[in-house]
Amino acid sequence: MTTATLSSQDTIELFDRYVIPNYGRYPISLVRGEGSYVWDAEGNRYLDLFPGWGCNILGYCPPRVVEAIREQAASLLHVPNTWYMEPQGRFAEFLSERAFGKAFFCNSGAEAVEAAIKLARLHTSEKQHRIITFENGFHGRTFAAVTATAQPKYHQGIGPMLPGFRYAPHGDLDAVRELADDELAGILIEPVQGEGGVNPAPEGFLAGLREIADEHEAVLIFDEVQTGMGRTGSWFGYQQAGVQPDVITLAKGVAGGVACGGILATEELAPSLRPGMHASTFGGNPLAMAAGLATGRTIEEEGLLENVATMSERFRSRLEPLVEELPIVRELRTMGMMIGIDLDVPSTPAVGKCMERGLLLNATHDTVIRLLPALNVTAEHVDEGCEILEAVLREMQDEL
Ligand SMILES: *Cc1c(COP(=O)(O)O)cnc(C)c1O
Repeated sequence: MTTATLSSQDTIELFDRYVIPNYGRYPISLVRGEGSYVWDAEGNRYLDLFPGWGCNILGYCPPRVVEAIREQAASLLHVPNTWYMEPQGRFAEFLSERAFGKAFFCNSGAEAVEAAIKLARLHTSEKQHRIITFENGFHGRTFAAVTATAQPKYHQGIGPMLPGFRYAPHGDLDAVRELADDELAGILIEPVQGEGGVNPAPEGFLAGLREIADEHEAVLIFDEVQTGMGRTGSWFGYQQAGVQPDVITLAKGVAGGVACGGILATEELAPSLRPGMHASTFGGNPLAMAAGLATGRTIEEEGLLENVATMSERFRSRLEPLVEELPIVRELRTMGMMIGIDLDVPSTPAVGKCMERGLLLNATHDTVIRLLPALNVTAEHVDEGCEILEAVLREMQDEL
């Protein structure tokens, strides 16, 4: 039941010939998806608990989003931002009513981070330009975003990096106080580090950053590219932390799998991104906006924030006993549908073994197995996935 005309091997040969090899890819060509399942060109089915690297926040081809895309594509695909267009206004309204402020739209997470950094520098005084970010954070691959990403492996060979960035250890308020001076424009942090291994900010840390930013009249930016749109069980991660940022960045799942990024900035900051200072040709296009609105409405009307809490608890109760029982399982970290299982051994082999048994997960930060399940994941999916994962971890423990 595939629509593909090429085998995985044929597609791999096309890539070898024509596509720049900047990604490590699994030797499988995916052709079709539905909910939390995806099929390859050979007709094999996988349970995907990491669908679309977190972008497919409602799983593959969510019907209401697909329908919204069809309708929008048939009436207006793209118009530039020299015009008004209803879908952009409506999606901005939807996001603002569940968060705060005003929206600017772009197409990716890195672009959202770029916009937030520019806004921080624009909004603060002439001499304020410095941005503080955190070790093991991740903010994307464009030059400002990758400079903000305080991980040396992403900087190797592409220097010099952008000036004006300072890095602090995650969780160390004293270090931030030391780095903060009258040149500080902004502090940028993920409420829960994603790529860095699913690390929630320590208790009180985000509130401390809020204070430091206020003391220096600097901008507090939360990178919610991964935590946003219901992922953690509230609309946005900052709401669970109980700390109000000045700007949040959005992308990944925000439009249910269609390329879309954006920022929300407070009413006070918003005017600083003034006409002529920033733009994005495709940003806020009707197609992405219609997909985003359908994604948001689905989350709301299907009660998926509650489902995140229920299913997160189910994952936790299935996986927590393994921490006690298997010495290779060091720690379980969960924030809604962001789940990290920290091992005592590299996580890549575990992810490979799961894939052989039809379960897709992600290996990040050397030893962490990361799950970003769809918000509409069911109890059956959780049980099926945990069973495979548990069997694989037991096998690895036994083989040691
Ligand atoms: C993925 C990610 C980004 C980068 O998003 P792109 O769309 O790949 O540019 C930025 N910040 C965070 C927190 C992310 O998880």
